[in-house]
Amino acid sequence: MDFNLFKRVINSINILKEQLLDLIYKRKCVGCGCSINDGVLCKNCLKDVQNLPYFSQTIINGYPVYSVFYYEKGMKSLVHRLKFHHHKICAYYAANYIFNYIKEIKDIDFNNAVLIPVKTHKKNYYKRGYDNVLEIGKELSKMSKMPLYDNVLSKIKYTIPQYKISAKDRKKNVLDSFKLDKNFKTDKLIIVLDDVVTTGSTLDVITSLFKENGFCNLVCLTLCKAKNF
Ligand SMILES: [Zn+2]
Repeated sequence: MDFNLFKRVINSINILKEQLLDLIYKRKCVGCGCSINDGVLCKNCLKDVQNLPYFSQTIINGYPVYSVFYYEKGMKSLVHRLKFHHHKICAYYAANYIFNYIKEIKDIDFNNAVLIPVKTHKKNYYKRGYDNVLEIGKELSKMSKMPLYDNVLSKIKYTIPQYKISAKDRKKNVLDSFKLDKNFKTDKLIIVLDDVVTTGSTLDVITSLFKENGFCNLVCLTLCKAKNF
């Protein structure tokens, strides 16, 4: 059997196992483990993570960056569950938090915007069976009606996960790792979507790429950001 196909079969089994466990046992909060009736985080865990202000909290390469929460506590668990534990339903709730957040941002016209997710390398895709940021993007696109362009930005170089290396080596690690589709054109606002911004190295490389290609109308949007970012 083809190795990638084998991995995908294993992943499908894992996802099914996760869904079955959800059915058999009562749903549990991914933050504290308490029982909940719906959602992935209980009210207390949600209250415990800080909702960030509805204005751009930082600027990368001249482009504003908006993040919904700090990367901490229950929200960190949610990101991990989606990324490493096949808990795909977390993508829906992550998108829902982002959707409720952007409704409050008054200086951006999200009705005239397109979504571009920061996708993972295909090696990770085969390992997980899905792309965690793309899944958030798909859900957010459904909720907000913003069109999703999932083939505009691709990760062409497999890189060591950013959290495994020092802050100063991160930029070098992601340099030249993304490619922009040369045929892509839009007069709409581009929303670059990612799950977490830690040092900003990835968004730095990506926004440089858009800048070099003449895209001025762009903002970055992430579910979480590191406290020291
Ligand atoms: Zn909880």
